[in-house]
Amino acid sequence: MKMNNTLYIVVPCYNEEAVLPETAKRLGVKLNDLILEGKASPKSRIMFVNDGSKDKTWQLIEELHQNSKFYVGVNLSRNRGHQNALLAGLMTAKELCDVTISMDADLQDDINAVDAMLDEYAGGADIVYGVRSKRKTDSFFKRVTAEGFYRLMNKMGAETVFNHADYRLMSKKALEGLAEFGEVNLFLRGIVPMVGFKNAVVYYERSQRFAGESKYPLKKMISFALEGITSLSTKPIRLITLIGMLIFLISIIMLAVFIIQWAIGVTVSGWASLICSVWAIGGLIMLALGVIGEYIGKIYLETKKRPRFIIEKVLGDDEK
Ligand code: UDP
Ligand code: MG
Repeated sequence: MKMNNTLYIVVPCYNEEAVLPETAKRLGVKLNDLILEGKASPKSRIMFVNDGSKDKTWQLIEELHQNSKFYVGVNLSRNRGHQNALLAGLMTAKELCDVTISMDADLQDDINAVDAMLDEYAGGADIVYGVRSKRKTDSFFKRVTAEGFYRLMNKMGAETVFNHADYRLMSKKALEGLAEFGEVNLFLRGIVPMVGFKNAVVYYERSQRFAGESKYPLKKMISFALEGITSLSTKPIRLITLIGMLIFLISIIMLAVFIIQWAIGVTVSGWASLICSVWAIGGLIMLALGVIGEYIGKIYLETKKRPRFIIEKVLGDDEK
């Protein structure tokens, strides 16, 4: 069993002055318990990443750091969004620790799930996904839109873990794998499963935001979904190709129907040829767009320079 590992809890924060003091307090207590129980080494830290907040978030982080060595901070040059802020924190922590746990600043994720995550890690998992067991506390609207979001994503070829947000444990090894992905359009929930390694799932109940407002209103959620889909897969392009083929097929069927109608003498002259060519040309244009898109899709995937493999372990001469 892996004991006494240095744990970094990474928390991205954007305009979180309302909730940060409470979050810091609770995480501080949690980390202290973990250290006392020997589940985390005394070098473990809570890392707040300030994502270009416009309020006092960074001042609060500085104060926390001054008062206790358990709090450390990373300040971004400007607002780069949740995903980039999280990556910045993880990549900084990677050099300093054995294992990270990322979570939101608003205490929506039950921090007591940390113990179960660390147990899974001790049991050999390199990535542990925190998954919401239910969404009782989310509004009906948020629940439906959020669950629709996961379904759409998976349909469109962006493989994600259902009902898992960014509450997860990653070992140093998994983080090193993640670092190999040179993606500019970052969608961690889709990338992390691509890293591979042994993984596990821990269920927890999601509660309401402790204070402050959600930084993900519907508009941002939709753009997040589009970002996720278009940055992970080229399936939408395939869809255009298929629709183009379908429309072209319909035009041919229509042509056949009109020829039969003409043969039995029930036609309006001129109309059939017109409507058929409209459909045929429309279909052909979409088909052509789709084919061009397929090539652009390939170029796009190439420019991402994703790693083609990540080595889990090498058995060599110096193996004990
Ligand atoms: N966040 C961030 N940068 C942003 C927006 C959000 O770092 O541009 C952080 C935010 O402080 C929080 C987390 O991302 O810790 C999730 O945001 P939020 O709780 O508002 O999203 P929701 O839970 O409502 O989906
Ligand atoms: Mg939240």
